Amino acid sequence: MDTILVVNAGSSSVKFQVFVVEGEGRLLRMIKGQVEGIGSRPRLRANGAGGDPMADRAYPIEAIPDVPAAMSVAGEWLRSEVRVNPLAVGHRVVHGGPDYERPVLVDHGVVSRLERFVALAPLHQPHNLAPIRSILANFPTVPQVACFDTAFHRTHGPLADHYAIPHQLHAEGVRRYGFHGLSYEYISRSLPQIAPDIAKRRVIVAHLGSGASMCAMKDGLSVESTMGFTALDGLPMGTRPGQLDPGVVLYLISEKGMAAAKVQEFLYRDCGLKGLSGVSNDMRELEASTDPQARLAVDYFAYRVGLNAGMLAAALQGLDAFVFTAGIGENSSGIRARVAEQLRWLGVTLDEAENARHSSLISGKNSLIPVYVIPTDEELMIAQHTLSLLMNGHSRNTRHKRVS
Ligand code: ADP
Repeated sequence: MDTILVVNAGSSSVKFQVFVVEGEGRLLRMIKGQVEGIGSRPRLRANGAGGDPMADRAYPIEAIPDVPAAMSVAGEWLRSEVRVNPLAVGHRVVHGGPDYERPVLVDHGVVSRLERFVALAPLHQPHNLAPIRSILANFPTVPQVACFDTAFHRTHGPLADHYAIPHQLHAEGVRRYGFHGLSYEYISRSLPQIAPDIAKRRVIVAHLGSGASMCAMKDGLSVESTMGFTALDGLPMGTRPGQLDPGVVLYLISEKGMAAAKVQEFLYRDCGLKGLSGVSNDMRELEASTDPQARLAVDYFAYRVGLNAGMLAAALQGLDAFVFTAGIGENSSGIRARVAEQLRWLGVTLDEAENARHSSLISGKNSLIPVYVIPTDEELMIAQHTLSLLMNGHSRNTRHKRVS
């Protein structure tokens, strides 16, 4: 059985999925698992495609102190107990910097180049690279593919790519990259089947999960994003504030005496829905709460999605469709209804029954703009890229741009 392993490594967990390669390059999900609680209370859990449990094991803290150890426990379980020996491994890597506009087959040179972008994503990039390095060391013949959250946005023109700062900083890599690119790419590839009429037109995709951003697409390509240099910008998120006057950061440093590491921790973990509500970072809890601060957080979220939609519609010079995706976008009919309310000035109306059913097309019959709900699948996107690079060989490996 030919399989592809997909790895998404973070600071405290390594998520993995296994896809079976069927005829004509079709991929079928077989296993979904994770090693969580790395360095605290490690646990391996895995389920089959239908959600049937395959493993649930706790480990002593010293058995899985870091990401490479988690990778080796997951790998050992896959090899010796499930008999999975993947043809190749695809990795989610948050930052491809200015270099990579598409996935790439990994070798030591690629890893060195990707290490340069640790400074651009210090909380994510080192964890993404750790399993790549450990597989390179232990299984050097297994092909590995790095798939970037930034790559889909490399089609941005210079106006979308710049901040109004001196050019030298742009040349060093201080740019508006945009993230969630694998999710947007999946939606872009799904649109021709789901909504062929609008797939090539002006579309806003709202990826609303615990991380949240929006992408303006024209002709299936990204032209603008709400996120920029880091995944902090744009929409409010579970624990990140979204757009913030840089003066607030200066205030935290000069008036509150916060060091850089403290500010970073604060912005990534204590703000957003959690900070504003003081109740939770989880939209389900906020929607269920009667606490006025929780209500403010929900209102603020919908308001900012609407505000940013206006910005992206301006970038597109019009709008032909709006798409909801990710945890909140796919599951919360309440948030979709509130966002649609914010878009009423554009002629958007919702069909309440279709919205409640989480149907694919949820706009009302007289809506000037169709509104869709499309479940995203970043892992399938990574598996597809991995398989296609495997089949097309190493020739594409050189197709990355130089840093200017
Ligand atoms: P990520 O992959 O960034 O962790 P997801 O796309 O899985 O995030 O989204 C997770 C978020 O989706 C949760 O934090 C939760 O707030 C939200 N969510 C999931 N289901 C629902 C629901 N039924 N109603 C409202 N929010 C939901």
